[in-house]
Amino acid sequence: MTEPLNDLPADESCRYCGSRLLPSLYDAAFRGDAAAEERLFFAIPGALCIPCRQLYVDRQLIGILGLNEAQCTFAIQSDSVLRAGAA
Ligand SMILES: [Zn+2]
Repeated sequence: MTEPLNDLPADESCRYCGSRLLPSLYDAAFRGDAAAEERLFFAIPGALCIPCRQLYVDRQLIGILGLNEAQCTFAIQSDSVLRAGAA
């Protein structure tokens, strides 16, 4: 993933392929620019397009986390969701 981070679309469908997004909590890594170290965040509320592997995050949250210029380099559904579901 090399595109700037996308904010969550209002209709919860992917702006690239139109697929329904999967809303969940994600563990994700973001890179601010080529020189910056990756920053890892856990259990971010977001929505993933599975065909595109594109993570969408709420615009307000992007601002809170300081990720306005960041690119998502890695995202995986958070284990904490699975643990919460099993409990
Ligand atoms: Zn898509």
